[in-house]
Amino acid sequence: MHADLIGKPLQMPWRLRFDRDCLIVLRRSLLAVAPEEGCALLLGDSGCDPRVRVVWPCCNVWRPGQWGMDDQADGRGCVNPSRQTRFALDPLEQIAAQRWGRRWGLVVLGSAHSHPGGVPVPSRTDRLWAAVNGVMVIDAGAGGLAGWWMERSIPGPDSTPVRPAEAHPLRLMSPEGASLGDTGLSPHNSHCCTFDDGSASGV
Ligand SMILES: [Zn+2]
Repeated sequence: MHADLIGKPLQMPWRLRFDRDCLIVLRRSLLAVAPEEGCALLLGDSGCDPRVRVVWPCCNVWRPGQWGMDDQADGRGCVNPSRQTRFALDPLEQIAAQRWGRRWGLVVLGSAHSHPGGVPVPSRTDRLWAAVNGVMVIDAGAGGLAGWWMERSIPGPDSTPVRPAEAHPLRLMSPEGASLGDTGLSPHNSHCCTFDDGSASGV
């Protein structure tokens, strides 16, 4: 993902509130393109307590050779990357969403995408391509739904590789503050996620 068009920088939140209808729209739109990865932008209120108000479904425009990072291992044993294991947001969609959001007082909080048949944890590729701080929601279908705060990857000096973004778990909640995990909408009940580089984070 290239998220360089995401709105103004945010402080790290601990939760992501989600209008119920938005969550339904999101999950259906991501599922619609399975087994390929679906993707969407999330617009809402900014600040340290973000709330998703609008889901902006996008086409997965990933193609081989894009950004020269196709040979990066993604932790899922992927040797021939495809849209079943990669996604890319159309930059024009990002611009359109940003413009639309500005008109309605909303910002692009981040993105969502699916991991068909996988787990709702950012892959190494997800972490490498996170260009700015922002929200990342991952829907793995039966594998669960999870929200993350991505602290952007930092390019190293010329000769060193990009450092992957840090992924901090977000609690997904209804606008009233009820945990979506308690409503049956978020079946992801793990208490600890292990990243593909061996690091771990509590959920
Ligand atoms: Zn991913």
